[in-house]
Amino acid sequence: MNHDKIEFRGVGKVFALGGGEFAAVGDVSLGIADREFVTVVGPSGCGKSTLLNIAAGLEEPTSGRVLIDGEPVGGPGPDRGVIFQQYALFPWLTVRKNVEFGLRLAKVARDERRARAERFIRLVGLEDFADALPKTLSGGMKQRCAIARAYAADPGILLMDEPFGALDALTRVQLQDQLLATWSTERRTVMFITHDVDEAVYLGGRVVVMAARPGRVHEVVEVDLPYPRTERVRLSPEFARIRNRVWRAVYHQPAPAKGTS
Ligand code: ADP
Ligand code: MG
Repeated sequence: MNHDKIEFRGVGKVFALGGGEFAAVGDVSLGIADREFVTVVGPSGCGKSTLLNIAAGLEEPTSGRVLIDGEPVGGPGPDRGVIFQQYALFPWLTVRKNVEFGLRLAKVARDERRARAERFIRLVGLEDFADALPKTLSGGMKQRCAIARAYAADPGILLMDEPFGALDALTRVQLQDQLLATWSTERRTVMFITHDVDEAVYLGGRVVVMAARPGRVHEVVEVDLPYPRTERVRLSPEFARIRNRVWRAVYHQPAPAKGTS
């Protein structure tokens, strides 16, 4: 049977809040195909992280469910690598040991562990820093290390929650190119959350625009731009046209109805 790699089926999340209830996510249905790169953009508080955490198995939905390869998510698993805005590296471990960490837990043999770590460290361009500690690295390098670590564990799915949100604009653009380069050789299914419209369009094959209160899918925009995405693509009129369309979808959303929050 053919199914999506990730399927959100009527997913809702209600938080208990101050004796009442708060609907963070309304009723989200969305399929993400195998090896697809989907970006999710929307105003702060529209439930992006909540959705990602539910797919990661870190939170449970209060209604609906998420299926991975057709199977309901039970909890976190090695089939899904999660990358957050905060680097979440072990400060006392070198880049290499950080990248090897999950493999060690998974009892991967030492030589294989070494080889895999080496490969992904090279892929993200950190080979000269393999023995460095995180505190000696820039923010961009730390995030590259986190990406190498996620890849080394060989998950079919990468769930990325504003991974470049804390970086300066220039570093961010470099990491976007690097992530796409990695994705083109190591094709995985990616769900990438951002609140940056340009980033969403540059990376995604589709952009899911969310609206708030409750969090829901407002519009899904196909990004009809070829990969590899290059500077030429980024500066093209087609890119501008799609970016403008996503921009309007994000910023010209109707105000939420009174009394719904
Ligand atoms: P986003 O990532 O789009 O900024 P979140 O998914 O973090 O949004 O949050 C969606 C909404 O749910 C926000 O209004 C947030 O305050 C609320 N929320 C998130 N987590 C909790 C929680 N544990 N308890 C109560 N409210 C929460
Ligand atoms: Mg968030």
